[in-house]
Amino acid sequence: MQSVNPATGETFATYDEHTTEQVQAAIAAAHTAYGEYRRTTFEQRSAWMNAAADVLARRAGELALLATQEMGKTLEAARQEVLKCASACRYYAEHAGAFLAPEPVQTEADEAFVTHQPLGVVLAVMPWNFPYWQAFRFIAPTLMAGNTGLLKHASNVPGCALAIEDVLREAGFPAGVFTTLLIGSRDVEAVLKDPRVTAVSLTGSEGAGRAVSATAGGELKPAVMELGGSDPFIVMPSADIELAAKTAVTARTINNGQSCIAAKRFIVHSDVYDAFTDAFVAGLEALKVGNPELEDTDVGPLATPQIREDIHKQVQDAVSKGARVRTGGQLPQGPGNYYPVTALDGLTPDMDVWLEETFGPVALIFRVQSLDEAVELANTTTFGLGSSAWTNDTAERERFIADLEAGSVFINSMVASDPRLPFGGVKNSGFGRELGRHGILQFVNIKTVSIG
Ligand code: NDP
Repeated sequence: MQSVNPATGETFATYDEHTTEQVQAAIAAAHTAYGEYRRTTFEQRSAWMNAAADVLARRAGELALLATQEMGKTLEAARQEVLKCASACRYYAEHAGAFLAPEPVQTEADEAFVTHQPLGVVLAVMPWNFPYWQAFRFIAPTLMAGNTGLLKHASNVPGCALAIEDVLREAGFPAGVFTTLLIGSRDVEAVLKDPRVTAVSLTGSEGAGRAVSATAGGELKPAVMELGGSDPFIVMPSADIELAAKTAVTARTINNGQSCIAAKRFIVHSDVYDAFTDAFVAGLEALKVGNPELEDTDVGPLATPQIREDIHKQVQDAVSKGARVRTGGQLPQGPGNYYPVTALDGLTPDMDVWLEETFGPVALIFRVQSLDEAVELANTTTFGLGSSAWTNDTAERERFIADLEAGSVFINSMVASDPRLPFGGVKNSGFGRELGRHGILQFVNIKTVSIG
């Protein structure tokens, strides 16, 4: 496995993939560790989890640079990501005990209650786009619940994958409680089919989700799927247009445009279309695309040449079918996977981008004439991850909350993940939830106890 810097195309580290024997040994160690770890107290697990937060905070600079060099996000974004991981560790360290406390239930029995016990070894299959955050939002609740974890991270971030294991080891978690497997996607099926592995959590593309959830289904093992999105960002006439446009710039270009919950489709009411679009495009044009290690860079390169090729193909397809380029759209020369911040309007249903996810800094702008049309267009795609709607009209707000087909609705703000709030999607964006209390309940045995 190689670490290739997306800003230069240079390979700066190479790692041997784990052999079948090494994978078997890791599964065995995770299984053995589970036997004792499941009996540890919440206080003990919290101490380790808080220690992990301390290690993350102390090593934030070094970890951030590694992420920037492996996948191209800006150094500041990477640093913020590491600190967010620390906050998730602290959140679950503080709340897991209460989230999983036994719940008494009144029945005809002498006593009845619901208890929450760990499931065993849980496999995580994670993507490169938030190489630490995606992993830690799995790790913090899963380990606090008393499970042990195995991580199969994306093949282009092996350094981050090993660093995560190192952070948890340094925090004092017992050997075997968390292990990184350096394996390719073809090896996931065998790991998941191993009887010692009890469940799986995957964040990634729809294709990966279909493959892994099919295996999980065949094995009758619980699964959480956090897949892609093509989130709408709806702007109605009563909104604060200036704030909406400013937020839209961040919502589209966060993480160099490679976020599942980035706003991808800007659905704008005709009455404010020009005002919003002019301000939005001007905001996009003001961003600096360049070396992610420099402080004044807003948008770094895309993670791999393939991602750049895919996004450019989508833009070319739309343009060839009549889309208007409001800004960007030209492939730059020179090294690195750079792609200009791009905005398109005049979009029609025959274009690939109408239904597909755009995983890069490309904004799609749509004009609608009414609330009904906005809701209908927002729900057109097969995805249903997040949604953002801008309005100061109470009836419109209620309509968006009721009718947007998505795992979240953010009114007058952009979609963001937060350890305190459940996160996940509907439709082809997947199933199950991470984060919040709902997240920690995914990988526990909700055991009914009835006495007498
Ligand atoms: P991929 O699905 O290609 O990769 C994600 C992970 O799945 C990687 O570890 C990958 O391994 C593995 N994988 C891929 N195919 C298979 C398979 N058939 N069987 C088992 N494992 C597999 O996604 P990307 O890395 O391209 O990430 C981008 C996608 O992820 C976007 O669609 C994005 O929206 C989505 N995503 C969703 C999020 C959410 O929370 N809902 C958050 C972030 C991203 P390998 O690298 O070895 O191929």
